[in-house]
Amino acid sequence: MDAMIVLLPGDGIGPDVVASSKRVLDVIADNFGHRFSFNEQLIGGAAIDATGDSLPQSTIASCETCDAVLLGAVGGPKWSDPNAAVRPEQGLLKLRSVLGVYANIRPVRIHDQLAGASPIRKDILAGVDLVVVRELTGGIYFGEKTRDASSASDLCVYHVHEIERIVRVAAKLAAGRRKKLCSVDKANVLETSRLWRDVTDRLMAEEFPDIAVETLLVDAAAMHLLSRPSDFDVIVTENMFGDILTDEASMLAGSLGMLPSASLGDTLRGLYEPIHGSAPDIAGLGIANPCGTIASAAMLLRHSLGLEAEACAVESAISAAIASGARTADIVSDGESPISTTEMTDAIIRGLS
Ligand code: NAD
Repeated sequence: MDAMIVLLPGDGIGPDVVASSKRVLDVIADNFGHRFSFNEQLIGGAAIDATGDSLPQSTIASCETCDAVLLGAVGGPKWSDPNAAVRPEQGLLKLRSVLGVYANIRPVRIHDQLAGASPIRKDILAGVDLVVVRELTGGIYFGEKTRDASSASDLCVYHVHEIERIVRVAAKLAAGRRKKLCSVDKANVLETSRLWRDVTDRLMAEEFPDIAVETLLVDAAAMHLLSRPSDFDVIVTENMFGDILTDEASMLAGSLGMLPSASLGDTLRGLYEPIHGSAPDIAGLGIANPCGTIASAAMLLRHSLGLEAEACAVESAISAAIASGARTADIVSDGESPISTTEMTDAIIRGLS
């Protein structure tokens, strides 16, 4: 197949982990007889430095016409003045909006050999394989905000169609997995959560009767994620709850550097990025873990290009590299020697041949 992929390296360790992922995609193209074209564009602080804009029009134009977008990370101390007129994160938020990607999908899969890198007990981590589906463009983060000298408010609004479309994404994912969906809300307190629960219950009964639905209040879900994480298959939740629960879930895998994400809308075109940021503390050292971004490239192959075997090949190669003892500094245990970003990428590519 022919595919056009926009690469947005961004800032900090972003360029390193995106370069690693491109190497992997090049090998996949060779091995499976595809032609992937890459179009590298600016976003974030790098774009501000070059153009004064965190998401230049040329980047938007490329992203609107490609098959998929692979992003590294944006931000860093150089652009972090809260009073600055232009900030790197604005470019990322605008990109999500331009692409209409309302569903953020974050799989959490544990490599047995990395159990020691997680703060959670090894027996609790056994068999963990879950996906969090977070609503990305609605809720309290996008509602009207007010502030005066004595008070402030953030309005939380959800519309039925926003709930329906995100629950459908999650249910379709569950249908291809263990057929279990856990919907997380705060229906004992919040009206938006009562709507969320009503819509979810109705839609699941009407459209996905063979999927088992569990409902949890968000406070209980935060506890169950750590006490029985292997029970979960697909978790669907609103924007703020998803933001918090996905960072908590990342600790199951031991390092932010391991986890991928996909942001999807109603078309096949998606935005793929690791869940970590630009890691300014290790930028330029060549030691960033590329696994989360390479796993994001695997999600790109699966969701935007429909290349399931190729996606599985990449995921298996990451597992094989880990199994062979390859470890970047963030996932080493006592007695293990860390390797560089390039060496980790080499180890993954060896698993593709
Ligand atoms: P961070 O994720 O960049 O780093 C947190 C810690 O994890 C750091 O110690 C870092 O070294 C480590 N880490 C992260 N990714 C790693 C990897 N691949 N390999 C090894 N270690 C890794 O979070 P932060 O420090 O809070 O934020 C730094 C900057 O990134 C900020 O400007 C923030 O706004 C931005 N940020 C961007 C995104 C994004 O682009 N989507 C997401 C989160 C944060």
